[in-house]
This record gives sequence, structure tokens and C-alpha cells, in this order.
Amino acid sequence: MDCPTPTCMEGCPVSINIPKFVKYIDAGDYLGAAKTLKETSALPAVCGRVCPQEKQCEANCFYTQKLKKDAVAIGYLERFAADYERESGLMSVPEVAPANGIKIAAIGSGPSSLSFAGDMIKRGYDVTVFEALHEIGGVLKYGIPEFRLPNKIVDVELENLQKMGVKFVKNFIVGKTSSFEDLKAEGFEAFFVASGAGLPRFMNIPGENYNGILSSNEYLTRVNLMNAANDEFDTPVIKGKNVAVIGGGNTAMDSVRTAKRLGAERAMIIYRRSRAEMPARVEEVHHAEEEGIEFINLANPVEYFADEKGKVNAVRIQRMGLGEPDASGRRSPVVIEGSEYDIPVDLVVVAVGVSPNPLIPSEVKDLKVSRWGTIEVNEDTMQSSIPELFAGGDIVRGGATVILAMGDGRKAAANMDEYLKSKHS
Ligand code: FAD
Ligand code: SF4
Repeated sequence: MDCPTPTCMEGCPVSINIPKFVKYIDAGDYLGAAKTLKETSALPAVCGRVCPQEKQCEANCFYTQKLKKDAVAIGYLERFAADYERESGLMSVPEVAPANGIKIAAIGSGPSSLSFAGDMIKRGYDVTVFEALHEIGGVLKYGIPEFRLPNKIVDVELENLQKMGVKFVKNFIVGKTSSFEDLKAEGFEAFFVASGAGLPRFMNIPGENYNGILSSNEYLTRVNLMNAANDEFDTPVIKGKNVAVIGGGNTAMDSVRTAKRLGAERAMIIYRRSRAEMPARVEEVHHAEEEGIEFINLANPVEYFADEKGKVNAVRIQRMGLGEPDASGRRSPVVIEGSEYDIPVDLVVVAVGVSPNPLIPSEVKDLKVSRWGTIEVNEDTMQSSIPELFAGGDIVRGGATVILAMGDGRKAAANMDEYLKSKHS
């Protein structure tokens, strides 16, 4: 805790003062620790749970880097301090500067916008967050399931932002409900676009349109936000007995563990590389294994089959080997000819990646967009080709992580502040 060089902080995209909050915990001042977390993070109880600490702060811990020992459990300590504060009922609300009367908007209510909103309200801006869905929180609410991130924990952090003065508008699609021009006419002077990467990808293989095959976005959103696990509800989700989830990321793990909880007898991950290449957090894979999830690695679906009513009943799998590393540094999958076999399934969830939400990139004239549909920004400032429009999170990176999205939100806030100050001086 008295590291000469606290390198851990370099691994935290929101620059939490890690040595300071850990020292508070060591001294038994847990509320002091929570207050330190909130100096730079709008969502400490969330990050303590879902942040890939092993690749961020803990990977940079002095113990790991210099002493080759286990890292300090920074993520768990963060979770503890934030939970302690919430459960004590003594939540502190960070101080905000006097209102400067300048109206700004954040588009989307995921972690990137929430982090941006927290920093801008502290600087005295009049901040409104517009969200297309009927719930605030982005993937934290519609994607990550309750068993990993309870909604009530997200809600308490949202209430904190509300107490600081952030306004939230739900069921409002910027680009449809109102355009940027409409919002400008209402007095909004600058925008932070964090509309995420919620567009599911499919594999475009034969039979993928059969009933009973759906994207992980649809599956998780319906279960998390639309009460679809409840058979009495309007749009119940299919509860398969033999469920195949295609993919090896966090979304695939969340989907397969959800299917297990909804009664699947055989809940399978089908992943085209080996476990070593899986993009999901090691912890998530471990939990899935503990829960009895079956891993069919080095296997790729090539076709689906259906019954006479068009409902999926089997997936054809092709075995894969591993070749040379690709651009991501992971060994690329190579087809093993003649290795196909069929597995009976009654539900398939496709979790092979996401693309940026296309609405804003396609609607806004003069906005520079990459060929992948992400918004292009100056990486140092998060400013787009339109000076009053900043962007961050998955709409800029493609599917990434909560903490990288939050780091973008903080960077955009600091630079939008400079931009607006120079405009008003
Ligand atoms: P999002 O969280 O996607 O939020 C964008 C919001 O914008 C959405 O609510 C959307 O409805 C709204 N929106 C879109 N267009 C408009 C519009 N025109 N007007 C108004 N609102 C709009 N990361 C981790 O670090 N750890 C994990 O364990 C982890 N698990 C994951 C599990 C799942 C199932 C998924 C899908 C992702 C996971 N991720 C995880 C990734 C992480 O959640 C994302 O990288 C992060 O949420 C991106 O934040 P964001 O603010 O950019 O966008
Ligand atoms: Fe580590 Fe994430 Fe917490 Fe930063 S927010 S200290 S990266 S767990």
C-alpha cells in the first residue's frame, strides 16, 4: 500500500486513486474509501463487479509487475467499499459546482454517458441524458443479467447522479423522437453520443432464420427488461431443454448461464477456438463451468435444421483446429474437413459479436463514420468531425468494456468543458 510507484492507477481508465481508497479500507474508514471512489467514478459498485480488473488495474499492480506476486484484489475491495456505503444508508453525494446554465445532452444511458454526466454535473452544467429504452443503464440493465449485476445496485448509482442534478429522459430516440437540430433549438449547446453497439451480428449460415434461433441481445433484453422468463407474461421467451449458445465472450456466458437458470438440461457453449482464446473474463468461464455448462470448443455451427413447423431441432457442427495467430494475436480457427456432426437443440442463442447502433451515424450529416459504422473521433479529445458533438464508448470502439466506455466519458467531459469555456469566453 506504500508502493513507491502506484502503477495500478495507470491501468484504471477512470483514474481511481487506488492507493488512497485502499488505505482508507486498511484504516477501517470504509465511507472514506467510498468517497474516494466517487471522486472519479460514477459507478463504483458496478465496476467492482464487472470490470475486467485482471486486464486493467490488477494487471498493472506493483506486486504483479515488479514482485511477480498476486495482485492486490483491487476490484473486490472497490466492490466492498461501494456496497458498504450503500448498505450503511450513509451514501454521500459528491459536491457539484454552482450551475452555469449551459445545457448539454448525453445520448444513450450506458456507462459511458453516466460517467460523462457525473463529471459534467460536477462542473456545473445542466445535463440531460436521453435514452431510447424504458430503463436507464444501457447494457448494465438490458444485457448483464441480474445474477451478475443486480438492477438495484445500478439504480442506487443512478439515484446518486439524479441527486447531483442529472436529468434522465426515457423512451426518447435521438434521431427519431427529435433530431439534433430540434435539441439545438431547445438550447442544447453540445452533445455526447454514447449510443453503444447494440446491433446483433449473425453468421449467415443456412437455417439461421428458423424459429428458436435468436440473438443474445434479444434473448437477454427480453429476459432482463421484459419479464420474458415469466410464462404468464405477454412475450415469454422459449425455455429450451437443449440450448446451444454460439460464441465465447461475456455475452455468450451470460446467455448460457441464463438458459441454465431457465431450466435447460443441456446448456452448451459452442466456440470456434479453444478456451485459451476465449474473450470472456476468466472468472465468468469459471463460474459457467461450476454451474455445469458444457463447453464444446474448437467447433463451429455450419447449418441448422428444423421440424415441420419451422422450429429449430438440430445444429450441424464442424470441428476446428488452430492455425497461425490472426490480427487479434489469437490463433485462428482452421476447418477440419469431414468432421461434421449434429447436435439436437430446441433453442439457439447467437452471441458472435455486435455492431454499432446505426441510427446516429447514418442520420447526422457531416459526421465522419468508419467503414465499421463507428463514429470517428480525435482520440485525445473524443471530439467528432462536428465540433459540438463528442462521442465515446462502444459507438466509437465497437463492443468493448464498461470501464473503457467510462474512461471515454470522462475524457469527453474534460474536453467538452474546454470547448464550451472557450466558446463562452
Ligand atoms: P451501452 O451500454 O450499449 O448503452 C448505449 C445506450 O444507448 C443503450 O441503452 C441504447 O438503448 C441507447 N441508445 C442507442 N441509440 C440511441 C438513440 N438514438 N437515442 C437514445 N438512446 C439511444 N463489459 C465489461 O466490462 N464487463 C462485463 O462483464 C461485460 N459483460 C457484458 C455482457 C453483455 C451481455 C454485454 C452485451 C456486454 C458486456 N460488456 C461487459 C460490455 C459493456 O457492457 C459495454 O462495453 C458497455 O456497456 C458500453 O457502454 P456504452 O455506454 O458505450 O453503451
Ligand atoms: Fe480497477 Fe476498474 Fe476499479 Fe479502475 S474502475 S480501479 S480498472 S476495478
